Amino acid sequence: MTEKCPFCNAIFTVSSVGDGGICGACREPIECPHCKKVVREERTTGYFIEKLVKAPIQDSSLSQYLGITDEEWDEMGAELNANTGSSDEMTYYYWFTVPDGTPDDILEKTGWEVDQTIDDIPVWVVDVDESPCH
Ligand SMILES: [Zn+2]
Repeated sequence: MTEKCPFCNAIFTVSSVGDGGICGACREPIECPHCKKVVREERTTGYFIEKLVKAPIQDSSLSQYLGITDEEWDEMGAELNANTGSSDEMTYYYWFTVPDGTPDDILEKTGWEVDQTIDDIPVWVVDVDESPCH
């Protein structure tokens, strides 16, 4: 059975070890294996082992770099362009133009202006391999 952490949305399983003992049951914490917060407590004569099944989805490196969330990036609908210099063989950096319809709160947060060109976006924040837990 899997559970979802209410704090970080990680998915994990809980199994109890040593349950069914003759000693009095006491309340043992069930901790999220990802954020280590106590999700709840349950009575058991043993103890709980939590195993991470799926880490919570985090914003992409690009969004983190830009200081916005993936959702906001989608909302902007900006188009990333690769600057390949003259050779076209390798990407030096990425750039995009802040679209017309970018919500004000994003502009406020980032200090961007509509039609502003955001360049020098490092290649590594765009061309990242998704980690297997995504
Ligand atoms: Zn958690």
